[in-house]
Amino acid sequence: MDVGPTKLDYYEDMFKLQSEATILSYVKGDDGRHALVLDRTVFHPQGGGQPADLGFIAIADSDFKFVVQDVRSKDGILFHYGFIKNSTEEADSMFEKGKEGLLYVDESRRKLNSRLHSAGHLLDVCMKNVGLGHLEPGKGYHFPDGPFVEYKGTVPQTELQKELELDINKLISRGGKVCAAVLPYEEAAEMCGGCLPDYIPKGSTPRILRLGDYPGCPCGGTHVSDISDIISVTVSQIRTKKGLTKVFYNVGS
Ligand SMILES: [Zn+2]
Repeated sequence: MDVGPTKLDYYEDMFKLQSEATILSYVKGDDGRHALVLDRTVFHPQGGGQPADLGFIAIADSDFKFVVQDVRSKDGILFHYGFIKNSTEEADSMFEKGKEGLLYVDESRRKLNSRLHSAGHLLDVCMKNVGLGHLEPGKGYHFPDGPFVEYKGTVPQTELQKELELDINKLISRGGKVCAAVLPYEEAAEMCGGCLPDYIPKGSTPRILRLGDYPGCPCGGTHVSDISDIISVTVSQIRTKKGLTKVFYNVGS
């Protein structure tokens, strides 16, 4: 398929849930699933510990709809997997190269994903507040079925769980603006407390996420617009195994 990387509209504006895009290709993947490839998208793919956005893509001035059931990124190209609603030959022919699509991201799912994901960032801040700043944040799993953040290092099993929960809810009630910006490497490093993780290539322009006045971190995900939009967090379990510590949490409604 001869198409370039998809422009990630959610990268610049993570609160935009509707947009327009041009269809570049309607493909059938190796696994038999059909996918739309667009020149740009507001759909966040599964990745970075965050589930994919769902929703639909409509053809302008028509009733034709493509239901998005999954979104994946491969080599910078985003594949919107799903099916054409009430598929007929006529409907299928509407989703060809060059057609304009109207994109609609499912708002309630995106909101929940953004709250879960943002809570993971805020837990990183709280780990420092409770004296565990020496633990290096690892991967996160921000799916609704059992979200956790992982850290390299072990912690004493004390009253930490309660302490973390109190601290994160204190920060949530205090609130603070959430911003994401693509920055020059040096500026990004400064915003993240002086240095960036090794996986960010030197000289690149990473996207930096910042919650309130706390130090930033590189992130490509979607987030709440204010810390208070996380609403509340419960820390259900802290598990240490093989030199790694997992903090299990969830967001309240
Ligand atoms: Zn993030």
